[in-house]
Amino acid sequence: QVIVVGSYVQDQTWLVERFPQVGETLRAHGFNTGPGGKGFNQAIACTRQGAAVTFIGAIGNDALGGIAQHIAKNENLPCRWQIRNDQPTAAAGITVNARGENQIAISLGANEHLDADFVRAQADIFASARVLLLQMENNLDALAAALDLCTQHGLLRVWNPAPVHADLDLALLRRADIITPNETEFALLLQRFGNTKIDPANLAQQNDATLHALARQLGIATVVITLGAHGSFVSHGENQRGDSDACYRIAPESVHAIDTTGAGDAFSGALVAALVLFRERPFRDAIRHANRVAALSTEIVGAAPAMPNYAAVIARFGE
Ligand code: ADP
Repeated sequence: QVIVVGSYVQDQTWLVERFPQVGETLRAHGFNTGPGGKGFNQAIACTRQGAAVTFIGAIGNDALGGIAQHIAKNENLPCRWQIRNDQPTAAAGITVNARGENQIAISLGANEHLDADFVRAQADIFASARVLLLQMENNLDALAAALDLCTQHGLLRVWNPAPVHADLDLALLRRADIITPNETEFALLLQRFGNTKIDPANLAQQNDATLHALARQLGIATVVITLGAHGSFVSHGENQRGDSDACYRIAPESVHAIDTTGAGDAFSGALVAALVLFRERPFRDAIRHANRVAALSTEIVGAAPAMPNYAAVIARFGE
């Protein structure tokens, strides 16, 4: 029912008291490695909510690529892998400080060489799916090919514009029905396409009418802005999804955040799962569920491994 076309990255996470300074070698008090990449994280978040997900992505013909396939099997996540001989599997170095903040260096490797033809060759699964979920850690022509298949087969298109691709144009972005930028990505999109310069750090303090007016500049049906520890904000264009309100905020859940890596991925993956699983329930309920999944994901270190399952979300917050 859900197709994620996205990235796989092998995450390597160091836990430190504070970030190292230039030229400094700082001893970490913890390390772990596991699956990551915005696409794969979102696919895991989505599948753990109980949605039927297929992941489409590219890895290298190397040891990390073997790990990727092994992890997907363990997670019962069906994948269509393009295995490239000329590109490495992607890897990321993540440092997390005592406040749960992160710094990340990433090499996207094979993810930037996902062939549009390979995506087109997966048309069979688009024919029976309801929602496509995209991010921006791949080459845009492959993502455009997936969007083309959605037009052909009538899928809802959800796009997490992270990180905002240098070559992105507004016409392509507008092919999404729903986008889910965080504050930084939203500010960047506005600067590029709305000609409005805003400080992402002040965004959560703006009133709803201001945020709604800013979101409407992009001309996308539904804009969902994730506001980190401030929760999230929804802005609908006219006639979207039967919600009575054009815009509203969902308050953050109270959690003990130790690592916010992947919170945005938890949000987008869970949102798509809820849109499929909740069926006729209001869009607002799907956003609330996404907020809960994202909040819980910050209590565990790592990205994909930190995604809570549906039962854990209900046990913590109720139905
Ligand atoms: P990203 O990881 O893309 O930067 P955000 O930081 O905006 O995304 O976080 C995504 C979502 O995760 C938020 O909308 C919120 O629901 C949840 N979240 C993040 N940090 C916290 C926190 N400290 N407390 C509660 N919820 C959080």
